[in-house]
Amino acid sequence: MDLSPSRRLEEVLGKARGLVEELEPLERVVLGGSFSAAADELEAARARAREIGLWLPQMPREVGGLGLSVLEHGHVSEILGRSPLGHYVCNCQAPDAGNMEILHEFGTAEQKERFLAPLLAGEVRSCFSMTEPDRAGSNPVWLETRAVSEGDDYVLDGRKWFTSGADGAAFAIVMAVTDPAAERHRRATQILVPTDTPGFELVRNVPVLGHSGDGWASHGEVLYRGCRVPRAHRLGEEGSGFAIAQARLGPGRIHHCMRWIGVAERSFDLMCRRSLERELAPGEPLADRQTIRDWIAESRAEIDAARLLVLDTAARIDRDGAKASRERISMIKYHVAGVMLSVVDRAVQVHGAYGLTDATVLSWFYTQERGARIYDGPDEVHKGVVAKLALRRYGPRSD
Ligand SMILES: Cc1cc2nc3c(=O)[nH]c(=O)nc-3n(C[C@H](O)[C@H](O)[C@H](O)COP(=O)(O)OP(=O)(O)OC[C@H]3O[C@@H](n4cnc5c(N)ncnc54)[C@H](O)[C@@H]3O)c2cc1C
Repeated sequence: MDLSPSRRLEEVLGKARGLVEELEPLERVVLGGSFSAAADELEAARARAREIGLWLPQMPREVGGLGLSVLEHGHVSEILGRSPLGHYVCNCQAPDAGNMEILHEFGTAEQKERFLAPLLAGEVRSCFSMTEPDRAGSNPVWLETRAVSEGDDYVLDGRKWFTSGADGAAFAIVMAVTDPAAERHRRATQILVPTDTPGFELVRNVPVLGHSGDGWASHGEVLYRGCRVPRAHRLGEEGSGFAIAQARLGPGRIHHCMRWIGVAERSFDLMCRRSLERELAPGEPLADRQTIRDWIAESRAEIDAARLLVLDTAARIDRDGAKASRERISMIKYHVAGVMLSVVDRAVQVHGAYGLTDATVLSWFYTQERGARIYDGPDEVHKGVVAKLALRRYGPRSD
């Protein structure tokens, strides 16, 4: 399979590289702790992304996107991932990108007009509200939040957390149980809830490794208390919540994994530069030490191998669909997260105490990317899938 970018894509990638470099001064404001403080500059950067043709790389042309394949968007995602702001500036950031995809695929004409159009235009943000503090998020078919049918409405009650970007979002897509007696994969439904609906309460931005964050860069705890929305806000048919959640995860994992390759590449650059600049004694750079060279060599091989694995998975999704590629999708999820985190860790180590300060992007990567081994399914769940499918090839099993 040819995984290299086409000439047309090379042009897009060149522009993405330029944009990401321009974002570096802005990163300092966000790394300083406030996403909202950079709101005006971020809007200007978004205008620039639009102007140079990098807006919505993940969406089809008919809705204003670049119409890239999963493989092509993978390449773009790596470049954008070099900056914590790259995806946001091009309007392909989680969780909005996934919400756009499912609204585009499953939304009614009215839902598209009211919810999708402003999201595509970058006028509003959204969030995805599935995980609950009192239920294991690793088991997505076991939820407590209820949506009870009352006349033409649903009334939602429940508590969610890690609803990323809830702070300042215009609406949430909420996963709630509509039929507790149904087969477990048919119990829940996704429902669009505007955040100004009475009964929607953002309790707090959950502090994560010392940062509560704000705006898009936060993880909200949300209470739904008698929260009433019209039945017309249901996404897809009743009971299809789990199936729709699965639909958003295939290409979404490619976006994340390639973003992590970008994180690893940026960390690798910083590690190499620092090891050449920092001297242990006059004329004795860190780069002369074998341990440092070992980290550089291992990181180089691990990043390149991980990239090939993800691009190959992206090409398989384009060719065979996400369902047929699920073993590989699970494989890249834990493998690439692990590679990224070990490269970031080595880069921090090479920088010594300086690596823990907010003077470089490494501290952001070190704290904010640890979640990669947990969200969208923890490592152990994905390893379970890969091992199960591998074992099936060696004989019949019950699972
Ligand atoms: C940064 C970040 C952003 C997030 N954003 C969102 C969001 O926008 N919307 C949203 O709804 N959720 C979000 N989440 C929540 C995320 O989806 C859940 O954290 C995830 O599904 C795991 O659920 P849990 O935290 O309840 O862990 P649990 O299900 O309680 O699992 C705890 C641990 O148990 C182990 N484990 C679990 N299952 C198995 C198994 N089958 N075999 C062996 N071990 C196992 C794993 O080590 C796992 O880490 C986010 C999480 C993070 C960290």
